[in-house]
Amino acid sequence: MSIQTCPVCGVKILQIIGGDRVIFSAGTPGTRATLWARVCQYNQKPGCINQNKDAIGEIKSSDRYQSDR
Ligand SMILES: [Zn+2]
Repeated sequence: MSIQTCPVCGVKILQIIGGDRVIFSAGTPGTRATLWARVCQYNQKPGCINQNKDAIGEIKSSDRYQSDR
């Protein structure tokens, strides 16, 4: 198991068998898609390690912040 930290977003990505886990400073862990939907798509800065669409995969509506809950 290895851990990557996105220097732009400051989020840790655990690389484990079966898919990456993203550790947020608050809330439950998510996927790379969650990270992109919540953080990386707004940053769009060079150095972000989560801008590869192939690695991110499909963004589900549950990956976005639920502002009405
Ligand atoms: Zn990032």
